[in-house]
Amino acid sequence: MIVALDTSHDGLSIYEAAVRLQRHGRNLLARTRRASPITLVVRQFENPLALVLLGSGLLAYLFGSGTDSVVIVSVVIVNALIGAVQELRAAKAIEALDSVVPDFTTTYRGGFLVQLSSADLVPGDMIMLERGARVPADVRVCFARNLQAVELALTGESVPVDKDPDPVEERCSLGDRRCMLFSGTILATGSVRGVVVATGAATELGKIAKLIQTAARPDTPLMRDLVQFGKRLTQIICAVAAILFYIAYRRGFPLYEAVRAAVSLACASIPVALPATITIALAVAVRRMAARNAIVRTLPSIETLGSTTIICSDKTGTLTLGEMTARRLWASGHLFELTGSGYAPAGELRLRDRALEPPEAVLELVRAAAVCNDAILQLSWGTWSGVGSPTEIALVVAARKLGVDFAAERNRLPRRDTIPFDATTRYMITLHDQPGDEQLVLVKGAPEEIVKRCNRVAGAEVELASVLEVVDLLAASGMRVIAVAAAHRAGLSSHIDAAELQGAELLGLIGLVDPPHPEAIPAIASCHGAGLNIKMVTGDHPATARAIGVDLGLVPDRDAQVVIGAEFEQLRPRQLARLAESAEVFARVEPEHKLRLVEALQTRNNVVAMTGDGVNDAPALRQADVGIAMGRRGTAAAREAADIILVDDNFGSIAAAVEEGRRCFDNLMKLLIFLVPTAMGQGLAILIGVIAFPIVDGVPLLPIIPLQILWVNFVTGVTLSVPLAWERANANLMQRAPRARGQPLFGRELIVRCVLVGVLMAASAIGLFLWQYDEARGLADTDLALRKAQTMAVTTIVLAQVFYLFQCRSLHTSVFRLEVTNPSVYLGVVATLAMHAAFVYAPPMQDLFHSAALGIEELVLSAATAALVLPAVSIHKWRARRASPEERAG
Ligand code: ADP
Ligand code: MG
Repeated sequence: MIVALDTSHDGLSIYEAAVRLQRHGRNLLARTRRASPITLVVRQFENPLALVLLGSGLLAYLFGSGTDSVVIVSVVIVNALIGAVQELRAAKAIEALDSVVPDFTTTYRGGFLVQLSSADLVPGDMIMLERGARVPADVRVCFARNLQAVELALTGESVPVDKDPDPVEERCSLGDRRCMLFSGTILATGSVRGVVVATGAATELGKIAKLIQTAARPDTPLMRDLVQFGKRLTQIICAVAAILFYIAYRRGFPLYEAVRAAVSLACASIPVALPATITIALAVAVRRMAARNAIVRTLPSIETLGSTTIICSDKTGTLTLGEMTARRLWASGHLFELTGSGYAPAGELRLRDRALEPPEAVLELVRAAAVCNDAILQLSWGTWSGVGSPTEIALVVAARKLGVDFAAERNRLPRRDTIPFDATTRYMITLHDQPGDEQLVLVKGAPEEIVKRCNRVAGAEVELASVLEVVDLLAASGMRVIAVAAAHRAGLSSHIDAAELQGAELLGLIGLVDPPHPEAIPAIASCHGAGLNIKMVTGDHPATARAIGVDLGLVPDRDAQVVIGAEFEQLRPRQLARLAESAEVFARVEPEHKLRLVEALQTRNNVVAMTGDGVNDAPALRQADVGIAMGRRGTAAAREAADIILVDDNFGSIAAAVEEGRRCFDNLMKLLIFLVPTAMGQGLAILIGVIAFPIVDGVPLLPIIPLQILWVNFVTGVTLSVPLAWERANANLMQRAPRARGQPLFGRELIVRCVLVGVLMAASAIGLFLWQYDEARGLADTDLALRKAQTMAVTTIVLAQVFYLFQCRSLHTSVFRLEVTNPSVYLGVVATLAMHAAFVYAPPMQDLFHSAALGIEELVLSAATAALVLPAVSIHKWRARRASPEERAG
């Protein structure tokens, strides 16, 4: 294979790689197919509200009102188009996010090991992958250990298959090609070095990519509630319209007029803008979260984040910087200090504040730590960079500071076998050949695990038990402690078993510092203010975890309780839940414990967000209400199980995502609380008109005719409501408790608001209609009188909507105390007013909509009446705030 692809074990040269990239193109799959625009438009008609409108249009046509039916049908179609465009944009926004999360592959290029964007891989590249990774291209396995891949994406088989370098028959099925790793599959265990044979569309996955179907339709609990609500509303509206028709008919309306009245009611009380505006609000949230480094993979998580009560977060790299530096070395009974910072190997060894030449015991320790290690430190273009886990890079840097070259040492001690580091076992073991007839076994890991496998300390008469006291001392200052030990083994073997390792010699301890992430501390404080419980879940030592917990402000002091993962095993879920709710720091936790933790917390009605990065974290991420994977450090397995991916692995981004989730939910509520009551008001105005108004010359007097209602509902209603999707977060967003789970969407407050605003709007419109009609009745032209009166009613409703919109910018704060933000609201208002001016004054519009010009006095009167909605709603908000001050404060 290596020959056929004209490459080598050191990979391609940079020049050759560039040539091949030209020839084969980038390693990208064709975009997954989206639903076609036509499907999207058709889907808009699944909405019962749209169907009722279409039905109304048909009725209007049957009863001879051509203009009405044309306008109604075109309004429905335009609205469906808007909805479809919005959905398309939302789907695109989500797709585009795929490329935001960087996907890197460890690749040999020009003799260096580099982290290369997977899109730049070419056939012939030599790459390395570890468990949890997603295979970036079709790869021929050259060297593998314990390798198993899950080929679900390709064969639909979820059981991992073994992979090894042995060649297979040429013509066997995909599932039997055991020496090949296929693009899109995931490594379940083991590690591999292999050569890329096909990229992009040439891969097996690329060949079937056409079959991968459409992105799922946005569907969230809130949206499901809303669909449910839409259905209910439709039923009610249909029933009321039918009753209205009956009443009108009995009152002596001509059949045609009775139908028109029923159709008007339907058009008036359907909040048409609702579906499209919800999609916009969600798309806005997705984009804003991405800008704050949280990539949303599933839309429901936006809402769930808003009601999250507990966040369980990793420590290393999420709450801390994840850039480790070895500070303390303990060997032969002495505790040394190592200076320097960053990856640059500059620093000196000190003992009791005096610099000294490293003694042999210390060299022995760092040599072993650098050999039992997969990290690489390299100098390119004048800066030192590391490849590998931060813990291991720090050990290589420490060795280098003391003059030990990791590469030379690794050559001197060729590695025969490896048991890689695992969060469950917490150690790493390597087997090496060395001169003579003995092999060397090196092990490094968490001190408890290592010390119990040792029987003496190298170079000193020290009790093993007292070593653990040193560990506690280092850990109490927040350091991560790694113990290193060595053993000799007779014979020549290429296989090592963890059970064999007993009676080793402890070489020493290394203490690594990993400072708290500067953004984590304020983010934690903000989450605490928002009523969220933050729990730190780490594989580290309890004392280390506690010290970092104090630094982060998670726990008050060093007496705080720390729960050990192993304690979970003895507890029943209920007991565990109570324990877990009261503690903030969880140490020596294994990935399996995370799942139990999430499950336990959920039994007590908590909404849990959980972070993770490893393969074994996937079940916990799936179980959590919001699974959060790390974008940089996370394995593909974790990312695929997650709802949200953090681009920068940083806890601060989780807090930001919670804030955006709450904001989005608030904005959806604002939309609802704007659209539903105003629709009610319009419906009510028609209802009253039909039931109570006189019939003049056989023609019923209606305060608003269907065409005008369509104008209000579809034109001004939409322009006014859309800007709410961009509404800023209210100041108290992160100062109030999370929304209770299962809290009904239409609580008492919304119902009261509907009645209040609805009655007020209807009363103002009808009142002014009657006043104006009375005034103008003296005119010879009764039609003009009616037109003016109706225009007055419509204008009042539009203006009341404008005023009410400002009240809807905040759910609980009175408009009189709101800051001037969100320019789009003003834009919407100006657009609405301009359009409505045309409605009132432009002759063609007057012909179409049966409107007439109003005088200044009439405009002022209408505006003044409409403005009544401001004080009325402020009083309502004030009363609601008083009823439950805590929740609604601000
Ligand atoms: P965290 O949850 O903070 O990421 P880890 O699971 O990575 O914790 O590490 C748990 C413990 O395992 C550490 O305290 C350390 O003692 C040990 N350890 C971490 N990384 C390595 C490694 N590469 N090799 C050996 N031991 C390690
Ligand atoms: Mg870790």
